[in-house]
Amino acid sequence: MRAVTDDGVAIRCLYPPDHERAAALEIEASRFGLAHLGAAFGRYPYRTLTIVHPPTGADEAGGMEYPTLITTGGSWLVGGAFGRFVEAVTLHELAHQWFYGLVATNEHRYPFLDEGLTSYAEADVLRARHGAASAARVLGLELDILAIYRAGAIEAGHNAVIGQAAPDFVQGSDYGALVYGRMATLVSTLEGVYGRDLIRGAVGRYAREGRFRHPGPEALLAAVREDAGDGAAEALRLAVFERGWVDYAVAGMESYAGGGEGPAQGGADGGAAVYRGHAFVRRRGTLVLPVDVDLHGADGAVQRVRWDAREPAARLPYAGASRLVAVVIDPERRVLLDEDLTNNAAREGRQVLAPRVLHGASLAAGVLLTLLGP
Ligand SMILES: [Zn+2]
Repeated sequence: MRAVTDDGVAIRCLYPPDHERAAALEIEASRFGLAHLGAAFGRYPYRTLTIVHPPTGADEAGGMEYPTLITTGGSWLVGGAFGRFVEAVTLHELAHQWFYGLVATNEHRYPFLDEGLTSYAEADVLRARHGAASAARVLGLELDILAIYRAGAIEAGHNAVIGQAAPDFVQGSDYGALVYGRMATLVSTLEGVYGRDLIRGAVGRYAREGRFRHPGPEALLAAVREDAGDGAAEALRLAVFERGWVDYAVAGMESYAGGGEGPAQGGADGGAAVYRGHAFVRRRGTLVLPVDVDLHGADGAVQRVRWDAREPAARLPYAGASRLVAVVIDPERRVLLDEDLTNNAAREGRQVLAPRVLHGASLAAGVLLTLLGP
């Protein structure tokens, strides 16, 4: 099976007779991926791309990458019914054309520059192609590939260093969860906090400047520092090399009518009382990532404030027409690396799990992982 991209790249797929539909999907995904990844990380410089779909029974030959040649795997049927496995494998191996093919890093010493950035790029292109259903759409539930990577990243936690050499990982599962899952989750977190354009642009700059060279971690850190600033670069360095982690939590709230620091009477004019008070928020862990905090008034009004999170605890001032009744940290869930999302929201008087914190992809991921997991 063959196709030629608009850019003139000849794609061919070699496949066993019973995998014709998978092969068609792989070619279509590759056509999309070459354009998308080329725009992000520098144009694919070769004239050909060969995809090999191994026959049933030779699955171990699948999921590999070489310059201009990738091997895939999986059945189209499984991919169609339960997820985008065939596409995910294809796009993952295709992304390796950049990381570590064109950007020839030492994959043994720094697997996070190889598999980690490849997993990030894989998620980027899957989301561009399928939106929030980037991993699967099952029974109306959308499953985001980043929710899957996040699950692995949080499960592995911060017990081992992402940026260590491949043989130094104690377990293969740690290697997978940290190098693939945690690195992809980390870069996506930086996108959420510092802006997708800036972080994606920085990785793109690293990929373009490092093409046909052998850059190390310092090149990636320098690109992020230059494009997104010291805070982003420092968070990346800490998270990769020093087991950096973060968990935001609401510690409480208070508000009083009258505008003083303590309880007071309503406004002297008898009109709408002004309530003043505070939200108490905490940041556990070593990563300093600024976040939004939503302050909910009893009347339904929501005020969004920015917390720079430089200190491990803060008292955020509140002033509104009604009592402060709920506080939600990072309401748009930009910090995917946050280890515990259940303490990001609290209601006056009790710690509750705000539905809006655990909606969408996270919830779908949890349900699906429970259903499909071992
Ligand atoms: Zn890989």
